[in-house]
Amino acid sequence: MTISIHPAVDHGVQTTSVDGFSGGKLTCKCSSNPVVVSVSAQTAHNHVCGCSKCWKPADAIFSQVAVVARDKLSVEQNADKLSIVDESAAIQRHACRDCGVHMYGRIEDSNHPFYGLDFIHTELSSESGWSPPEFAAFVSSIIETGTPPDNMDAIRARLEELGLPPYDCLSPPLMDAIATHIYNQRKAGG
Ligand SMILES: [Zn+2]
Ligand SMILES: [Zn+2]
Repeated sequence: MTISIHPAVDHGVQTTSVDGFSGGKLTCKCSSNPVVVSVSAQTAHNHVCGCSKCWKPADAIFSQVAVVARDKLSVEQNADKLSIVDESAAIQRHACRDCGVHMYGRIEDSNHPFYGLDFIHTELSSESGWSPPEFAAFVSSIIETGTPPDNMDAIRARLEELGLPPYDCLSPPLMDAIATHIYNQRKAGG
């Protein structure tokens, strides 16, 4: 069985993260008047994600998503084509109305552990040098969108082979960051 995780990693993870890389432009899939987003920093925590909410290319079972500080991101062209996929979601995903691509996900709740970070898909950029994916998040969730449970052993094995340790939530450092945030909020709140 050939397992396709995501086009960016199926032929091996490109560890081309470049020292001094300082961002690039993300362009949606519209052939005319595309939405263009400018990112003026390197990304962090790049990973493949199995949740049902992240945008992914056709035929991919995972998305690829990374974070960048929200003040390093600006919409340069055709901002009027963007709309929020789900206003009630913690991460508000701003998608192109015409092609459906999510250009960035933003957290507006200042109490959220990841407030201040935007979620982006660096595959929308033609620049190379973005931080490479490091792990696979929400792996079990791909069953919710139709992956047969019987395929999971093979998919987890493939992720391991690619150097992307599979987790059914986020990676341990990110889960620890969330828990630390909650502890600090409790402590501050008394
Ligand atoms: Zn578009
Ligand atoms: Zn996701």
